[in-house]
Amino acid sequence: MPLILITFIIVFLIVAYVTRRGTDTRACRWRKNASRDKGNLQYYRCAACGAEEYTDAKGPPQDCKSKVTSRPL
Ligand SMILES: [Zn+2]
Repeated sequence: MPLILITFIIVFLIVAYVTRRGTDTRACRWRKNASRDKGNLQYYRCAACGAEEYTDAKGPPQDCKSKVTSRPL
């Protein structure tokens, strides 16, 4: 039955998409928001996964923090 094969391929693609989306931290696109800075801490928000991070270093964070802390509501 080709229907079973098609179903299997679709499920595989969905699983691969979700898994890749969760592990590929390099896809993060940090965007600075100066209006939410706290003193020396610069506020960045990931446009890809929605993670929020404060950093005192120059430039955006290296890692995606979405897996470290629970996602904000
Ligand atoms: Zn991210």
